[in-house]
Amino acid sequence: MGMDDDRGDRRAELAGSHARVTARIEAACAAAGRPAADVRLVAVTKTYPAADVLHLAALGVTDVGENRDQDAAPKAAEVRAAGADLRWHFVGQLQRNKVKSVVRYADVVQSVDSVRLARALADAAGRLRERPLDVLVQVSIDGDPARGGALTGPGADPEVALDRIAAAVAEAPALRLGGVMAVAPVGWQPEAAFERLAEVAAGLRAAYPAATAVSAGMSADLEAAVRYGATHVRIGSALLGKRPGLR
Ligand SMILES: *Cc1c(COP(=O)(O)O)cnc(C)c1O
Repeated sequence: MGMDDDRGDRRAELAGSHARVTARIEAACAAAGRPAADVRLVAVTKTYPAADVLHLAALGVTDVGENRDQDAAPKAAEVRAAGADLRWHFVGQLQRNKVKSVVRYADVVQSVDSVRLARALADAAGRLRERPLDVLVQVSIDGDPARGGALTGPGADPEVALDRIAAAVAEAPALRLGGVMAVAPVGWQPEAAFERLAEVAAGLRAAYPAATAVSAGMSADLEAAVRYGATHVRIGSALLGKRPGLR
């Protein structure tokens, strides 16, 4: 089998998984009484090559997610050089020394969970970007400070308190507060996790009406997320296949 056959096989494989994921999102929207256009698919392409991103773009995917700058920066450059114009979402833990790189290719950073990181992004985006950077605040559902994510309760450390982070983003001219992101904690019913996130999102929207995005739901739990108001689902393995290792 030649190279072209391999490429055709992968394209066909991705076309099948993309059709299945799209059908799941549409069914979940129908069950929730929501229009399918309410929910955007973010294809999480981490660990997969630029060639897969280009296949997905050809299938109509508009948004991709990555969680490591070392992989994402060259991949985004390769995809752009091939002529595909996609929205890049950074969804992983972001070290402040990577911020200058990420603001050059990311359209959205979904994983902002400290005031310090918000300020570092504001500074870098102000210097290195022409358009504002969309930011989602990553929320901790279970309030465990060890696992990261913004906290909401009274007495939360101000450095990681949702209202402080939101204020730091909202006051930065180079950033745009888009909403919230979360991962359902291991051991939680996804419904309970996303119901809790919906409450947090509503609270944020009351203070910042433009912060309408709710990024929730992955391959295993997108239906529960859509039921509780997700506007973005982040889908990796159901689209691209099971990743080797823990990433
Ligand atoms: C990897 C990842 C996803 C996608 O997970 P799947 O279970 O493969 O769909 C979504 N969100 C974040 C933050 C991730 O790191």
